[in-house]
Amino acid sequence: MTDRSSGPTASSIEETIARVRGCTQVLAVERVALDQACGRVLRESVAAREDQPPFDRSSMDGFAVRLDDASTRFRIVDRIRAGDWKPRGLSIGEAVQIATGGALPCPELQVVIREATEVEGEWLTVRERGPERCIRFRGEDARAGETLLEPGVRLSPGALGLLASLGHADPLVTRQPRVLHVATGNELVSPDLVPADGQIRDSNSTLVRTFLGQWGVTLRQLRVAEAEAVAHRAIEEAASGLGTLDLLLISGGASVGPHDFTADLLVRLGFVLHIRRTATRPGRPLLFGTRGATLAFGLPGNPLAHFVCLNLYVRQAIEGMSGVAQGGAFRSGRLTARFNDTPNARETLWPARLEITGEGVGLRPLSWRSSGDLTPLATANALVRIPPGTDLLPVGSPVRFMPTSLQP
Ligand code: AMP
Ligand code: MG
Repeated sequence: MTDRSSGPTASSIEETIARVRGCTQVLAVERVALDQACGRVLRESVAAREDQPPFDRSSMDGFAVRLDDASTRFRIVDRIRAGDWKPRGLSIGEAVQIATGGALPCPELQVVIREATEVEGEWLTVRERGPERCIRFRGEDARAGETLLEPGVRLSPGALGLLASLGHADPLVTRQPRVLHVATGNELVSPDLVPADGQIRDSNSTLVRTFLGQWGVTLRQLRVAEAEAVAHRAIEEAASGLGTLDLLLISGGASVGPHDFTADLLVRLGFVLHIRRTATRPGRPLLFGTRGATLAFGLPGNPLAHFVCLNLYVRQAIEGMSGVAQGGAFRSGRLTARFNDTPNARETLWPARLEITGEGVGLRPLSWRSSGDLTPLATANALVRIPPGTDLLPVGSPVRFMPTSLQP
């Protein structure tokens, strides 16, 4: 059994994050189809191959006439739909009907919007003509050769739309990490079962799976009894089918109770433990270790501790592995409701609801009693740092916080 009384002392949030980041290596790359790329991290810079848009296009439904033509009555000499390519010159008194997105037939034209005209057969009368040319000019969005996306960007639906428009259909992204998650505890049953007396449903497996799912990361999951030998066998067996693991997450048993075997298990699996305790709550018992490039976390079983450790630390590992340029960081905001609680000697990560108000970013602390509480997690989208010894923070107090979802 490993000695739990000595070893590394409790580490602060910053120390823990730095340790995790320092041990994390960026994974290799692969090319994927656009449909597989949402949430993945781009690892190349992408430039426009052609001017965008590639030709002058009408931005409205209307009629193209010469810019220097002051006529009010025109003969309609052609009709251009989006997709047509009909280059031609226009004489004074001539107009071309053109649809939104249609290619202008020649330079030096203006599109008069349909609503400002009247049409009778092949004759057009312009009632009103403003200065607006209603043309998206070639290259006005981007010039050929211009870099539009940099490495380290997590690809959003908008970025994927841009890649599609550029014809960049197989972006180079970081390969997916190989992750194994093991929920331990004799009390746990699957969420679809009715627990017997003394049992509870396993909520952490869902939390872990969906947390990683935000970045499109899929993982292998196991639920094992609280017995080191059983867990050891199950992990070795599952891991052998996955190739070299990038990340092993073990829920529960991270503390110092008689049944808390995760530290011993990790050591037996060949991991060197770098962190055993943090100075914050919830999530004081936290195990972090490495075996070569493989990272492992032993997460305290309480759901709120899971929520905090996933957001604070596991997220750093995932972001470090994926090579994302800007990781989760603390930001500044103000409380929109007062904080009032019994002071605690440790810094606390408090679940909160982040809202954008007229005054900026507002944070409403949610109520929780125990780190076993799940109800505050349903609406939490931020974690607020409450300094040690704090009992009261009035409305408007400046606080540091971390958003817990990608889009708050
Ligand atoms: P442990 O870290 O194993 O000592 O567990 C601490 C608390 O978290 C206990 O009340 C456990 O029942 C609870 N817990 C552990 N694992 C889970 C899980 N997967 N889902 C929900 N609660 C859990
Ligand atoms: Mg347990």
